[in-house]
Amino acid sequence: MKMGWFVLLLVSLYCGVSSTACAEPSDDRGDASIQTSVTFDAQRAFAYLKKQCEFGPRPPGSAPHKATQNYLFTELQKSADLVSLQSYEFKTEARTLQMNNILAQFGPRRGETLLLAAHWDTRPIADRDAEPENREKPILGANDGASGVAVLLEIARILKEHPPPRRVLIVLFDGEDYGRTVDTMFIGSRYFAQNMGKWKPDYGILLDMVGDKDLQLPIEQYSWQANREFTEAIWQRAAELGLAPFQPRLGAAIMDDHVPLIQAGIPMVNIIDFNYPHWHTLEDTVDKCSAKSLEVVGTLVISVIYDGL
Ligand SMILES: [Zn+2]
Repeated sequence: MKMGWFVLLLVSLYCGVSSTACAEPSDDRGDASIQTSVTFDAQRAFAYLKKQCEFGPRPPGSAPHKATQNYLFTELQKSADLVSLQSYEFKTEARTLQMNNILAQFGPRRGETLLLAAHWDTRPIADRDAEPENREKPILGANDGASGVAVLLEIARILKEHPPPRRVLIVLFDGEDYGRTVDTMFIGSRYFAQNMGKWKPDYGILLDMVGDKDLQLPIEQYSWQANREFTEAIWQRAAELGLAPFQPRLGAAIMDDHVPLIQAGIPMVNIIDFNYPHWHTLEDTVDKCSAKSLEVVGTLVISVIYDGL
């Protein structure tokens, strides 16, 4: 993802405004029972994060990228009713890259449809690394790539054990972090937004960089601008669940995979911790992430799946 150029201005303008977004938790929800029977296995999720990193950096066109694609497809096949690859080509000046979104369907075949998304590719260049000699090397992407996917793999396992009351689609986007500039990023989500067909969701949640040990999740600004009520409901739910890393304040506006979907008319909330010093460096490694952080985000997602908003 990339931070919008006007972020700092907006943050300073809006800080405080959004505190009204997350009022006191309501006490009229009598649906806590499902929470007791569905639990997010944080250690298993963290193992999914580590497993992806064991393939090494996973940029499009590389052997680890292909191996990771096969791994993710196979993992989702263990739990989903239907798993599909959405394939497309991306042409650069030097070559044509094959990219694949990985799609999985759970629950009822039709009706209200919730999309859960994350990107599975990793950035081919560590262009924010402190050491100039590292800036053309690919990043490991423990947080920026593996973390969101890890949460969704554990969610997939839960969805098999506990069929959801609404249709749930998990979509893992390719090509999010490919290019140097935004016009060659978000390749998979752009393709998906233009080719949703029967996979078209009613609304969705994007997870990106949710593994940081020091997890901080202010409200992402593009989500809030596009669909304020939906976005505030997510942070309200997090407050009800006591998930402290979800901070009831407006954060940065971040270009990410949710934007092409918002532009296609799908309400999307991006849950992202952009306050990550290792972003787009070789230091984005497993030791910077924690199982607890994955659990916080997974707990929120489980609540949305089973309790609705
Ligand atoms: Zn990135």
